[in-house]
Amino acid sequence: MSLREKLKALEELQLVDIAMTEVRAEAEAVPRRRAEIDAGVAVARKAWQAEQDRLASIEREKRSQEQTIAAERDKVKKWEGRLAEIRTPREYAALSREIDIARKTNESVGEQTKVLTAQAEELALSIEALQEKLDEKESGAQEELEGLLKREAEFVERTASLDARRAELATRVEPALLQRYENIRKRRGGIAVTQVTGGTCRGCNRQIPPQMAIVLVRANTIENCPNCNRIIYVPEAVSPASPPAA
Ligand SMILES: [Zn+2]
Repeated sequence: MSLREKLKALEELQLVDIAMTEVRAEAEAVPRRRAEIDAGVAVARKAWQAEQDRLASIEREKRSQEQTIAAERDKVKKWEGRLAEIRTPREYAALSREIDIARKTNESVGEQTKVLTAQAEELALSIEALQEKLDEKESGAQEELEGLLKREAEFVERTASLDARRAELATRVEPALLQRYENIRKRRGGIAVTQVTGGTCRGCNRQIPPQMAIVLVRANTIENCPNCNRIIYVPEAVSPASPPAA
């Protein structure tokens, strides 16, 4: 394996590793996104449930009022029947007053029931709107979750093919150089190999000494940037426009 070929392998290895890091970052974002989607649905469901609970409580109160009214009506009917049997004016007046009070109570409970009925109608409309929102949220979530599953499968596929390519490239570089590459990559934010163009290292954007530029064009040695220590090469040394004279 010539030095140029090794540099070429390192160059591609670097591209594979960058792609791998990107895939990993995208894959790691998936559970976060999934949690966000679930939380969005939960918020919509909670809003809908809260209004449902309010409506149920209003309906309960209404039923209890209706029972009260029915019971009071029975009482009034019974009392009215009894009025005919009463002999003394005092008793008659007393019972009449009771009947009056019961009727007024029923009237005012009836007014309250009307208010509750209006509230229940309003709530039913609001629940309908919230239900629509919830349905929308749920179907949107369903769609997005399916998309995420598909993407996860793609990530697995891409990772497998990158792994295979990486293993193949690694065989083209001797273990010591591969180790050097790994060490620099760890210390230099994932970038171990970088081009020099226009006399500047693209890893750290610093000028390299002119003497070194000449060495790089010859490509007889593996060189490191004097500033960032990354393995550097000039593109024309790795992919010459015309085949180099042997
Ligand atoms: Zn550099």
